[in-house]
Amino acid sequence: MLGPVVPASHLAGILSDGIPRSITELTGLSGLARSTVRERVGELVSIDLLCPTGQTVSRGGRPTALFQIRDDSWLVLAVDLGVRHCQVGVTNMFGTLLATHRMDIDIADGPDIILALVTQVAVNLLQRNGISPDCIRAVGVGLPGPVEHATGRPIDPPVMPGWHQADVPAALRSHFGVPVLVDNDVNAAVLGERLLGWPDCSDLVYVKVSTGIGAGIVSHGQLLRGAQGAAGDIGHVLLHSTARQQCRCGRVGCLEAAAGGDAIVRTLAQEYGRDVTSLTDVVRLAQAGDAQVSQLLRESGRAVGDVLVASVSLLNPSTIVLGGTLGELGDHLLTAVRETVYARGSSLATRDLTITRSKAGADAALVGAGVLGIEHLLSREYIQERIDLATGTLSMNRP
Ligand SMILES: [Zn+2]
Repeated sequence: MLGPVVPASHLAGILSDGIPRSITELTGLSGLARSTVRERVGELVSIDLLCPTGQTVSRGGRPTALFQIRDDSWLVLAVDLGVRHCQVGVTNMFGTLLATHRMDIDIADGPDIILALVTQVAVNLLQRNGISPDCIRAVGVGLPGPVEHATGRPIDPPVMPGWHQADVPAALRSHFGVPVLVDNDVNAAVLGERLLGWPDCSDLVYVKVSTGIGAGIVSHGQLLRGAQGAAGDIGHVLLHSTARQQCRCGRVGCLEAAAGGDAIVRTLAQEYGRDVTSLTDVVRLAQAGDAQVSQLLRESGRAVGDVLVASVSLLNPSTIVLGGTLGELGDHLLTAVRETVYARGSSLATRDLTITRSKAGADAALVGAGVLGIEHLLSREYIQERIDLATGTLSMNRP
């Protein structure tokens, strides 16, 4: 059966900034007829997504009701999985984190152990914060590897042994019984970064520089995933054809193999004879102003900049933010990225280009995982399905 010509999700999208509005205001902002707005708002109230919230006085002096998206009973479970860390959080429909828990993990323990752990942590988190599981309407997950968008499954993830083709959505759906949206952690991070730091920026690139290197791209206000979900996977772009460094993906000469965290650790330990075994050691030395580490961070920044020059030509972003352990570490890497991109990018593409550090910091991917869920809940298909269920045009028993 055909849904209404103008979906209610259009109005829900307008209200997703959290500002309560009257029917008159929604009529003006949506460009729809007042009767249509009234009808669609009624539908959104019937599925409990909108609620009346106080009143304002109209120009005629009469009180009129304001409507807003519920911030108490429509919540999203957000999961940010890294190679060594896991964050679980609960967000409302505006992306505000209501509760979080962070712990150390080893992603190589595999999907069965890690997803059971995530589920248990989430259950405890809800309990501890007095949040009813019924309020969780969707689960959003960021994974540290390539994710096939159509299935939500990781595909040949270089740093996630045992996770190839793992059915992450099914594993979490079996417990929570709600839609599960899975994406690459950098795709999640660009959504979180935009929400927290750059709400008015429609062309944003988030570059994570850590053990791995990757980019999340928002173009024209939309997350750019590409055909399979691999857009922005810049860590394995060939940097120089003469480079010989073996990458963890199996090839040689990748950006990540020259500029990622492992490369810096290896150079410090093997070439400079320093007592360095992990990225944590690199961070400690950088914060102490170590000259060799500063030099390596600048080299890393130049390599990242070399690859970003091509990205700037292809995408013409207005803002590039650097995130991740190395991307947010001091000024050396950032300065080298800026110098390289501004020197080599075309003048039109770089004239108003901002290159800066992440504002969202360590929360970018977690909040972004929440945004994955929020965007699904506000999608035309999801809202129409809820309305059809509420009005009885769709059987509850339909699979
Ligand atoms: Zn590689």
